[in-house]
Amino acid sequence: MMARFYIDERLPVSSTATEHIPYVTAWSEELAHPTPVIQLAYGSGIAYPNETPDDRDPHGVLWKRAHHARGQGKPVFGTMHSTRQRHAMANLLCQICAAPADQDDDGILWLLQDNRTDWPGWPNQAAVYEPPICAPCAALPPRLCPALRNRAAVIRVRSAPITGIRGGLFAPGPDRTPRALRPVHRPYPDSDLSWTLAYYLLRGLQGATIVESPHRTTAPAAAR
Ligand SMILES: [Zn+2]
Repeated sequence: MMARFYIDERLPVSSTATEHIPYVTAWSEELAHPTPVIQLAYGSGIAYPNETPDDRDPHGVLWKRAHHARGQGKPVFGTMHSTRQRHAMANLLCQICAAPADQDDDGILWLLQDNRTDWPGWPNQAAVYEPPICAPCAALPPRLCPALRNRAAVIRVRSAPITGIRGGLFAPGPDRTPRALRPVHRPYPDSDLSWTLAYYLLRGLQGATIVESPHRTTAPAAAR
């Protein structure tokens, strides 16, 4: 079972800067100085030169180091802050406001880009990295998230176990400098995990049903 995971929220956050910006959204200052990885001896994977036990999860997977500067610079929509995503996903918190996600007899509430034509029964068996949502945030007009505008589906999910990670896959390179290959989804456990730098935690959706918008309201035209 995945250990509960908490992040350090002691850094001050400007409420005016972050108002209406989703909790998980990364800010430009947080992405400005990524920590490069090195290649371990004997081709056994990637690491940080000054690695600490906090850099890896209970499966031994190396996680992207995320600088905390929420509200500084500009929000980078479409990119989530790795540590806040992991915190929200591990603890089933709302991706917008970080309150507990809504849950009823039909399951936990999720708001996803509507891909119901992808396969029969979608989104069952999907592995998602978008954390769930609370009812008040699911009712907000979607103008703040371009990816979901006009294409959102409200979902109830009965079971959503943690299944793995989304991250960047590396390969051995010259002079012990690993080569970045591509983003991948990797299940726990997997042989490629030692060469993957985790960005986001994944949950697999099971017992999912599409809800025809009982919580979702349409904002008056004048307010858009
Ligand atoms: Zn919320």
